[in-house]
Amino acid sequence: MQKMRAEILSWAQQYAEENGWVLNPDPVVLDAVIRGLVRNQMKKGERYCPCRIMTGEPEADTAIICPCRYHTDEIASDGHCHCNLFFDHS
Ligand code: SF4
Repeated sequence: MQKMRAEILSWAQQYAEENGWVLNPDPVVLDAVIRGLVRNQMKKGERYCPCRIMTGEPEADTAIICPCRYHTDEIASDGHCHCNLFFDHS
């Protein structure tokens, strides 16, 4: 659990950096989202978004494996993804 948490956090940091984003600066919210991703990875076998409802249809649900299909549009329009994990710098 701790190991997977560290791995997912490290992946998210790297992914944010590669895209010129930052992770949520609020450590409580950040930890809640990371824990949600860990829980889904452990229980459902994929890093499903903790803030979206799964359809139960594996093909459709690939859209919400983090980083989900929607995050770049959300970050561009709202400044952050739906879960408040990735934030635009500006
Ligand atoms: S909304 Fe954010 S945390 Fe959720 S899957 Fe998309 S990128 Fe990941």
